[in-house]
Amino acid sequence: MSWDIVGHEKAIEVLARAVADEARRSHAYLFAGPERVGRATVARAFAQALNCTGQDTRPCGECRACRMIAEGKHPDVETMNIGGLCDESEHKDHSKDKSQEIRICQVRRLEHVIYRAPFEGRVRVVIVDPADALTAQAANAFLKTLEEPPEHVVMILITAREAMLPETVRSRCRRVAFGGVGREQIEAALRERWEAEPETAARLARLAQGRLGWAVDALKDNGALDEREEVLDEIEELMAGGDKERFEYARMLGDRYQRNSTAVRDLLGIWSDWWRDVLLTASGKEELALASDRLDTLRSQASQYGVEGAVRALRALQDVQQHLDEHASPTLALEVMLLELPRAAARTR
Ligand SMILES: [Zn+2]
Ligand SMILES: [Zn+2]
Repeated sequence: MSWDIVGHEKAIEVLARAVADEARRSHAYLFAGPERVGRATVARAFAQALNCTGQDTRPCGECRACRMIAEGKHPDVETMNIGGLCDESEHKDHSKDKSQEIRICQVRRLEHVIYRAPFEGRVRVVIVDPADALTAQAANAFLKTLEEPPEHVVMILITAREAMLPETVRSRCRRVAFGGVGREQIEAALRERWEAEPETAARLARLAQGRLGWAVDALKDNGALDEREEVLDEIEELMAGGDKERFEYARMLGDRYQRNSTAVRDLLGIWSDWWRDVLLTASGKEELALASDRLDTLRSQASQYGVEGAVRALRALQDVQQHLDEHASPTLALEVMLLELPRAAARTR
């Protein structure tokens, strides 16, 4: 196989068939699965395979089309992201206006581009990432393109929050499911492709929980690991504090969410990991805990909050992510979450 992708064998099988046999190709695909497992990487490889001019296996990775797509410079591969381009002259640059959405003006710009024949490739590829960021208006406008796609176009909608997409949009796409990448696969890839030390590779693969993209970023920049440690310190501190600290923390996160929602979602992921560890420890399975270097704290929280407290915390974390998806006020949603977290029995008396 020439796709050169770590994991996602099933998805690639489906897509490779669509490359080999045009009759099996859909005009729209929905890449559904968690963030940072490699969905966008597979989308790019699919765009390469569709436009590759190599003689044997596609994508070859070496022809002009393959190289330009890898560099994000191919004129026939369009990505529509949050804060992307639009044609409205009176609009300010959406990359600088703190937009958290893909707007209708961006869809309109895409419509102008999409009906033209490919400039130099065979297939014009449009990648919408994340598709759940389309506003209702934008999704509605995009639906027209999905209903009557030009012959030379393949659209790839990427999402981790499939339920946020209108059914009318989903039903017009061929769904390709993405899961996490296996721990051994991540570990091996980090060693072999990114030249990580065996110990680092093992640690990152464990913490990544299927997110190869996270592991690679964490390897390149120790910041991700440092940040994880900082968040774990914050959790420890907050759980030892009172409601005042919880409110302050919620407000701080709420402000941060307005500027960078992804960072806060990542942070909430670390919170979930922690409470999963507390749950495991309380259930007598501490050897499975991710934060194995904080066993003392885990044990003490497990004995304070028990299985019940950990389950409650995990539920609160699940709820807050759903509320954020539904565009609730972030500060309010985060306050509710922090107040829902269990309290140490001794403290309230
Ligand atoms: Zn090629
Ligand atoms: Zn605009």
